[in-house]
Amino acid sequence: MINLILFGPPGSGKGTQAQSIIKEKKLVHISTGDIFRKNISLETTLGQMASSYMNKGQLVPDSVTIQLLESEIDTCTQSQGFIFDGFPRTLPQAEAFASFLNNKKMPLSLVISLEVGESKLVERLLKRGIDSGRADDSNEDTIRARIQVYHQQTSILKKFYSDNLKKHFFEINGEREIEVISQDILSILKKY
Ligand code: AMP
Repeated sequence: MINLILFGPPGSGKGTQAQSIIKEKKLVHISTGDIFRKNISLETTLGQMASSYMNKGQLVPDSVTIQLLESEIDTCTQSQGFIFDGFPRTLPQAEAFASFLNNKKMPLSLVISLEVGESKLVERLLKRGIDSGRADDSNEDTIRARIQVYHQQTSILKKFYSDNLKKHFFEINGEREIEVISQDILSILKKY
């Protein structure tokens, strides 16, 4: 079993790289952002609640997000492993996740952090907003708020995982061509 966290700020390419990985490896891709967006399009109560945070570039509360992630894992009991994309994003999420995985005897194998500078992130997200119509990518203030949230609440997890996982924590340059980054990730995954 491989359990991988793809880590990085919004626009660093986590979703894109997850798609490349699942072409090669039988892993289940779990994106909390995708699950929230699906709930928004289905107009569920969860979707309504999540959109009030997402539209402002804020994080959905931890209690909701943790429960959502855990029940998603519980529906995929036959999986050979998971790619976690966009989760965890806060220290309480990371701590709750660690004890959940521990109880399930599902160790976290590795964390890959995609490193991309702020100007590149803004440029990519604005482009994605035009291409996809995604609400939170269509306004530069919201994009900058999301990047700020990443710096304030999420980036500390790099230290959490490099301390906890040591040589299983990898930082890679996410500003290069998509295929070049995918090759790097797949060559790291060969060792797992
Ligand atoms: P993403 O698609 O990963 O960029 O996520 C889009 C939005 O969904 C984020 O800006 C948050 O509002 C919300 N979201 C996704 N994942 C999480 C998470 N782990 N914790 C809190 N909010 C999240």
